[in-house]
Amino acid sequence: MAIATINPATGETLATFEPLTDEALEEKIARADRAFASYRTTSPQERSGWLSAAADVLEADTDSVAELMTTEMGKTLASAKAEVGKCATALRWYAERGPAFLEPEEKDAGAVGAQRAYVVHQPLGVVLAIMPWNFPLWQAMRFAAPALMAGNVGLLKHASNVPQTALYMEELFRKAGFPDDVFQTLLIGSSTVEKVLRDDRVVAATLTGSGPAGQSVAAIAGDALKKTVLELGGSDPFIVMPSAHLDRAAEVATTARNQNNGQSCIAAKRFFVHRDVAEEFTRLFAEKIGALTVGDPMAEDTQVGPLATESGVQDVEDYVADARAKGATVAVGGQRLDRPGWFYAPTLLTGVTPEMKVHSEEVFGPVAALYSVDSLDEAIRIANSHVYGLGSNLWSEDEDERAQFVRDIASGMAFINGMTASYPELPFGGIKQSGYGRELTGVGMREFMNAKTVWVG
Ligand code: NAP
Repeated sequence: MAIATINPATGETLATFEPLTDEALEEKIARADRAFASYRTTSPQERSGWLSAAADVLEADTDSVAELMTTEMGKTLASAKAEVGKCATALRWYAERGPAFLEPEEKDAGAVGAQRAYVVHQPLGVVLAIMPWNFPLWQAMRFAAPALMAGNVGLLKHASNVPQTALYMEELFRKAGFPDDVFQTLLIGSSTVEKVLRDDRVVAATLTGSGPAGQSVAAIAGDALKKTVLELGGSDPFIVMPSAHLDRAAEVATTARNQNNGQSCIAAKRFFVHRDVAEEFTRLFAEKIGALTVGDPMAEDTQVGPLATESGVQDVEDYVADARAKGATVAVGGQRLDRPGWFYAPTLLTGVTPEMKVHSEEVFGPVAALYSVDSLDEAIRIANSHVYGLGSNLWSEDEDERAQFVRDIASGMAFINGMTASYPELPFGGIKQSGYGRELTGVGMREFMNAKTVWVG
């Protein structure tokens, strides 16, 4: 894939970039390695000050960065601005809370025959972050803020279609006053990742992206015995039971499926609706999906913009054609828009069955797949039959159903009467083929830290 900015709303190539030469890549890794030697000794308070400064810089740059993201990957300008705000919040959260996660943890010295026993959490070194384009700033920030607070040094290999946002990330931390080279962007293609990952000066990697990319990175890292965190695909279930507030559930379902133009790992993708309320819920859901304003992502009233890439819109067309051929009904949408760029109409498919690809794969676009079920047991059973286990949603007022859902749903996150989202305050991640490890909170920060046991006699 060429490293280029191509506007998804028009299909126009706006800028192309040459990948780093071998020499330039070597120079960047050497710089990162040197930066770690001193950055690891900086105090939590210093790091905290730089993170706060980064939040200020980011907020001041909101309009320009948001426009850049919209231009590079087509998210609506309103959602791009919200993404910038969320990143600033995460930077401040780690600036405030981070030092506490770095405090030594005292243990029961008497039990181990010591005067004092404790655990210190120390940074690991240079961490490679391989990131996707769908939340180009947030995905990278979710790694960067805790990593820099921990005292690690970051190398960002961003998706090839968001090079300017990637370069902005490096500039942001420089402008915030962080020491030189603690966060650098590598403009490289995915075929160069192995070389970086095998380099002895790179100690760990985190990847957010597709299953195949995760398998490749995990295999190489496994061979080189390096720690990884993987945030991969999802096909989150959204279960609606008879006691649910149907209009509210349909409203949130519409947002949950169509946020970010349908391209979110934690978008609700499969909707399991109890048969008693299926007709009413389907009517409300179809009405709300049909009312979404699709168009120029820069326009203020647009709710759904284009898909990020041409291959992305082709994939969505193929999924819908496959479902139709196997008997699904298109309740609303179901076609590409007749205009330049990569627009697909927000769509609701009903009568989804296990033979269809929308059942077993991940549709990365604005297409909701709806199933009618007879019970919560049936909904959970079909939901859990998927290879993914990222987020999950239940709409119910019944305490027993909620308890059953939390106990039985195979996912990393369970949201009841709300939409799956990421917050600095909550661990984020999945199970099964959605990956392993967690991001955010202190749990995410410690993924790339050495919990060193200290025993003093
Ligand atoms: P992708 O193709 O896997 O790309 C993600 C990143 O991995 C890009 O930087 C890409 O570089 C790189 N990459 C691709 N193949 C690679 C390989 N074999 N070795 C090393 N690096 C490789 O994913 P995408 O299609 O852009 O993103 C959508 C996927 O990401 C969906 O499955 C979505 O669910 C998932 N996602 C997951 C989360 C989560 O938190 N769990 C969040 C967002 C997205 P190039 O661009 O240069 O190819």
